[in-house]
Amino acid sequence: MLHAEGPLLTIDVSARETTETDIDDELETFIGGRGVATKLAHDRIPFDADPFGPENRAYLATGPLQMSEMSFTGRMSMTGLSPLTDGLVSTNAGGYLSRNFADTGYSVVEITGASDELLAIHVTDEGIEFEAVPDLEGAAVPDVTDYMNERRDLDAENLVTVGPAGENLVRYACVMTYDSRAFGRGGLGAVLGSKNVKCVTFEGDSSPDIEMDEDVQSAVHRDAATSDDMMRRQGTTQGTEFINDNFSLPTRYFEKYHFEHADEIGGDAVEEKKYKKAACSVCAFACKLPTRDEERGVETEGPEFETVFSFGSNCEVDDVVDVMKSNELCDRYGLDTISAGNAVAAYLAAEDEFGNAELVHETVEKIARREGIGDTLAEGIGRFADELGVRDYTVKNMEFAAHDGRVLHGQGLSYAVANRGGDHMYSTTLRVEYSGEVDPEGLEGKPAIVRRREDHAAFRDSGIVCAFAGGTGLITEDQHELLFGCDYEDLLEVGGRVVELERHFNNKRGMNREDDALPYDLPGIEDALDEYYELRGWNDDGTVPDETVGEYAQAD
Ligand code: SF4
Repeated sequence: MLHAEGPLLTIDVSARETTETDIDDELETFIGGRGVATKLAHDRIPFDADPFGPENRAYLATGPLQMSEMSFTGRMSMTGLSPLTDGLVSTNAGGYLSRNFADTGYSVVEITGASDELLAIHVTDEGIEFEAVPDLEGAAVPDVTDYMNERRDLDAENLVTVGPAGENLVRYACVMTYDSRAFGRGGLGAVLGSKNVKCVTFEGDSSPDIEMDEDVQSAVHRDAATSDDMMRRQGTTQGTEFINDNFSLPTRYFEKYHFEHADEIGGDAVEEKKYKKAACSVCAFACKLPTRDEERGVETEGPEFETVFSFGSNCEVDDVVDVMKSNELCDRYGLDTISAGNAVAAYLAAEDEFGNAELVHETVEKIARREGIGDTLAEGIGRFADELGVRDYTVKNMEFAAHDGRVLHGQGLSYAVANRGGDHMYSTTLRVEYSGEVDPEGLEGKPAIVRRREDHAAFRDSGIVCAFAGGTGLITEDQHELLFGCDYEDLLEVGGRVVELERHFNNKRGMNREDDALPYDLPGIEDALDEYYELRGWNDDGTVPDETVGEYAQAD
């Protein structure tokens, strides 16, 4: 089976020491990316670790496809113990980092400990350097890029950085790369912040040579370049009006299912503000969305559909430039737009201030700096809902994505069981429900669908393949088999192991069936959970038997 190559680099920022470890066995079993990082995190982060403690570890990892010249591979994965969910999370960013990271020759970089001063870490194929960067305290993301550009001649595509939100331990702070691409969900920016790591840079010329099927690479690349998929013009916003009209676009902090001004912030409105095409490394599909409004001086990349929901409909903000402004602020300060938008929407609900875009923007700044109400909102909805007297619309403290589980019942089940909580990317069951392949209503047959799609997502994030390759059908199961040199079912088996290790780690932190709970009624959910656990061979309390995990990881 195709897998990433290269050693693990461990960087202990307390001792300012580095070590290299051969992880060939782990790479052969877990491919790379989310898979191998989850295996390492499971075995190396203590089960009782404090997410903000020096014992937590953050992993950056590539897969084998980052050594290709094929579209849909400009991605990187990051893993660690989340300060938001209190469980293991992986998160995935595009941009141009993956090739520079691979050029260092490492397959995985692990950061542990905690520095006593603010640090930049420079990783190259010729050595690792620690640089104290006191001048970058509180710096916004683009200012870190400028600093590294002036001082070290490094570009935005060479680095990951945290903004003020990460330094201030906002529980949903991102790690940013290329100024506008985010390792978004689960607060790993706050994990780097807790380690006093502001920035990590990557450069070199030692990318391993990995052979893979040339015909498939060419076919995928050609199809990506010639596709007439609407996503190439409008990115993920292309479905906004369709979803609002036919399913649900949560509005007024989930109070309503439809937004009457969806067309003012959706795909056409975003496309009008788009001023050029943009992509990730080597990707000819180029679905990204650089937008600007000269009159108001707003320039950003996006909003993507999730931000149209979180800062648009859910806040009842009906001006696309206001949504762009929220997006720009989140990128600048290093905040996950889904969690931040939902947190702001909850605050607007408490204050009866829906539609007040000025207050939205002020509140984002306060969250990033933990000023006033921002200090409360920075904890995430699950931790502040009672104090503000609002309903807790999260699963495992993770704020929901747009796709409404009250309407897409399979997606609702997938939110309930996802190891990352109320997020859509760990199974994307929404796709078969939107497309009509399966009836969105009801849970019959859905546990098996959720399980298969979770396993696919975990393998995909290990490969690493962009999620939009599957969503557009531009990489087929047959092509995956040819690329990875094995049956598709074997790839799903790898994905299943990754899901199981995440679950087992979370179990050891006390999470179980009670945490697989939705904040609304979903008829049949208890039977569906029974069926889902049985399909996976887990206990009926939602825990993984130690002996199952013991076959390929450290069970206790
Ligand atoms: S499809 Fe879009 S998000 Fe995915 S790699 Fe290509 S440009 Fe990046």
